[in-house]
Amino acid sequence: MEEATARRKRINRLKKMILGTVGMAILIPIIICIVLAVHISGLNGQLQELQTMLEQARLEAETEEITSVFTTAHIEESPRESEEQSEPEQEIQEEAISYSKRIYLTFDDGPSSNTAQILDILKQYDVKATFFVLGKTDEESKALYQRIVAEGHTIAMHSYSHKYEEIYASKAAFVKDLKKLQEYLYEITGVWPRYYRFPGGSSNKVSKADMQELIAYLNDSDIAYFDWNVSSGDAVSGQLPKDTIVSNCISGISGQTDCVVLMHDAAEKDTTVAALAEIIAKVRMQGDACFLPITDDTPLIQHVKSIGNQPDS
Ligand SMILES: [Zn+2]
Repeated sequence: MEEATARRKRINRLKKMILGTVGMAILIPIIICIVLAVHISGLNGQLQELQTMLEQARLEAETEEITSVFTTAHIEESPRESEEQSEPEQEIQEEAISYSKRIYLTFDDGPSSNTAQILDILKQYDVKATFFVLGKTDEESKALYQRIVAEGHTIAMHSYSHKYEEIYASKAAFVKDLKKLQEYLYEITGVWPRYYRFPGGSSNKVSKADMQELIAYLNDSDIAYFDWNVSSGDAVSGQLPKDTIVSNCISGISGQTDCVVLMHDAAEKDTTVAALAEIIAKVRMQGDACFLPITDDTPLIQHVKSIGNQPDS
């Protein structure tokens, strides 16, 4: 009997053990599943939060991009202006500072049959200059405008027609002539010219238009005008002897630190071409002077200044 009881007990214990094991085998995965489900739902929440943040960041970046586009466009009011801020210009400025005397050779009235020779001499001496040109439509002139720019000189304006009675008849006539030349030079060279020399200078006595009005127009149009403080004297009718041109330039340059030298690029001005190499050589022999093309950093040499809003430089 005792044995039977003990056996039943053993069987019962065994049953309990089996039931317990089975129960655990069912319960544990369920518990794990519940824990994992809770964990996953938490991760889902985090993921959504991250997605929202990412979307926000993307939108912010886009807005910033749009703003910066508008800002840049606002600062550079004219795309043509930005072309002017080139590396060579910075080099020129650095060179200018390192010398005590700066010489800006300027040639009015070209292109002409003498332009190529002038350019050859400038190239030979590695001198950059400024050409205040007129509007000429023949193929040779077009090629010369392009050569002036290609060889690093400054292309500047001196009126399209150079006819005083037309240009100076009224402000409207002056503006029309100027715009015609500016657009034309831009079309031929790709450079938007921003420097001007009044035919006869800003102090001319022939203009029927108020010179102050013309000056105000240039200031408003971001065009700087330059007269000169050294004259080669070659503007006289006929030819001035070569030696006179040389001595006029050398004596004019001697007393000044920033010299804008007036010369002419015209068919009949052969003695100017003949004098050019000698002028450069003599200046170089005296030392501590550099030849520069006109840039935004060139001091404004002007005979008649603007009465109204004067430019800063
Ligand atoms: Zn002229």
